[in-house]
Amino acid sequence: VAKPVMYWGTGTPWKTESKFWSWVRSGLRKAAWNRHPIKLNKKKANRYRAPIGRGGREVWACKCEMCGVEGPQDGYQVDHMKPAGSLKSVEDIQPFVERLLFVTEEDLRIVCKWCNSVLAYADRYHHTFEEALARKIEIRDKPKKKRSN
Ligand SMILES: [Zn+2]
Repeated sequence: VAKPVMYWGTGTPWKTESKFWSWVRSGLRKAAWNRHPIKLNKKKANRYRAPIGRGGREVWACKCEMCGVEGPQDGYQVDHMKPAGSLKSVEDIQPFVERLLFVTEEDLRIVCKWCNSVLAYADRYHHTFEEALARKIEIRDKPKKKRSN
């Protein structure tokens, strides 16, 4: 595989190689994953009308497959049960694209934003969901440090 030359560093739009790959990663997520027909079908198939809007109005709702919390659909995301993983080199492109895009509805789940952030934390630090949940709660409930100025 030919290595890209001069795509990051001085005189390029990306200061570092890691900034370049994170740009590619978010580009694939935005352009392909966010409008993946299987992802859109998954969300459509798992939403329902529920009287949880303002004044008991009926709105589209979802239920988190991790914690069971129900809410308006825009608070929910479609998550890969097997994370797409890292994209840090040319060699990572194929496995990343396969994990991100070669999915069926069975590979996906509906999760609330909180559980999604716990799952991302677990993936990042190689924790179980329970370990990540405990750590995230610890961080959330930690008193904020006061600034001296
Ligand atoms: Zn949840």
